Amino acid sequence: MESRAVKKTSTRLADGRELIYYDQRDDAVRDAVDKRPLEPTVTTSEVRRDPLLGDSIAVASHRQGRTYHPPADECPLCPSQGDRLSEIPDSSYDVAVFENRFPSLAGDSGRCEVVCFTSDHQASFADLTEEQARLVLDAWTDRTSELSHLPSVEQVFCFENRGAEIGVTLGHPHGQIYAYPFTTPRTALMLRSVAAHKEATGGENLFDAVLARELAGERVVLEGEHWVAFVPYAAHWPYEVHLYPKKRVPDLLGLDEAARTEFPKVYLELLRRFDRIFGEGEPATPYIAAWHQAPFGALEEFEGVNRDDFGLHLELFTIRRTSGKLKFLAGSESGMNVFINDVPPESAARRLREVASS
Ligand SMILES: [Zn+2]
Repeated sequence: MESRAVKKTSTRLADGRELIYYDQRDDAVRDAVDKRPLEPTVTTSEVRRDPLLGDSIAVASHRQGRTYHPPADECPLCPSQGDRLSEIPDSSYDVAVFENRFPSLAGDSGRCEVVCFTSDHQASFADLTEEQARLVLDAWTDRTSELSHLPSVEQVFCFENRGAEIGVTLGHPHGQIYAYPFTTPRTALMLRSVAAHKEATGGENLFDAVLARELAGERVVLEGEHWVAFVPYAAHWPYEVHLYPKKRVPDLLGLDEAARTEFPKVYLELLRRFDRIFGEGEPATPYIAAWHQAPFGALEEFEGVNRDDFGLHLELFTIRRTSGKLKFLAGSESGMNVFINDVPPESAARRLREVASS
C-alpha cells in the first residue's frame, strides 16, 4: 500500500527549545525565525519515588508561573501575526509540536511537548477534517519514535485534555506528550495483569481476551473494519470508551496503513458523539483522551512478558456525569483508589450509540 508523505521541518525557538512542523503539503517551507527575546528556560523538574506506594511524583516548582487563560489575541499556540509573536514563528501551520516552556518533566527526568492540532483557535479536535486528524496521528507516531530514542525516556504518553473543567489553561486545540524516564504505574499494573493471565492460561494474551469479550457483548459503541470502541466492563468514569485496533500492536508505530487510514473516521465520530452525550445546548463535553502504549524500557519485572504482548489503545473519558455536574475524585477515589461510578457501563454504551451521527 502506498505510504503517505508528510513534510517534517525541525527548527529551534529563541530559547533553544525544539519546534517541529508537520505539513500535509510536501512543498511547505517553514523558515520563519523566532524573534522573541526569550531567556533560556530554567527547569527544576525532579522525580521522587514514594517509598510506600512505589509510584513516582514529578515535582516541578517552575510551573507556578505558567501562562493561565490568556485572551485569544495573546494565544501562544496561534501562528505569529505581525508584531504578535507566539510559540509558532510561522504565520500558518498544519500541525506544530514544540517542547513545553513549563515542562513537568525535563532533562534527565524526561521531556514534555505540546502538540497544536490546527492553527484554528476556535476549533476542537472533533472539528478537524479526516486529513487533519490523520496528520495528528502521523505526528503522534513520529514523536513516539523520536522520543523513544532519547536515553532518559522509557515511556511515551500522547494525550489531550479538553475543557476548562479538566484544568486546561489554553483554549487553543492542542494536546501534550509526556516522555517519562520510567514505566508509569498504570502501565505497570496492566503489564502485571498481562503476565498473570499469560501464566494462568498457558499463553493467552489478556488484551486479546478483553477485546474478544467486549466484541461479543452489549457495550460496543462503534465498530469499523480495523477499530472497535466500547465502554469497558468495569468503567471507572461515567462515560468512558476504549478504542482498540482489532489487530493488536504494542504502540502507534505498529499500526499498519489500513488501520491508520481508518482511524480518523472512527475517532472523529467518537469525539462528536461525546459532545452530544448531554444533549443540545450543553457546553462542550470536557474529556481526557489518553493513548496507552508499551514502554520502551526493560520489562524484566513483568515475568514472561515482552513488548509485543502490550495492546495499544486509546482511553477516552469525561469527568462530567450529568448536565452541569462533574464527577469529583473524592474520598474513595483519591483516598483509596476505589472508583464509584454512578452510570452503569451498559447505559453509557447505549447512550453513545443513540447519539451516532446520522
Ligand atoms: Zn490560539
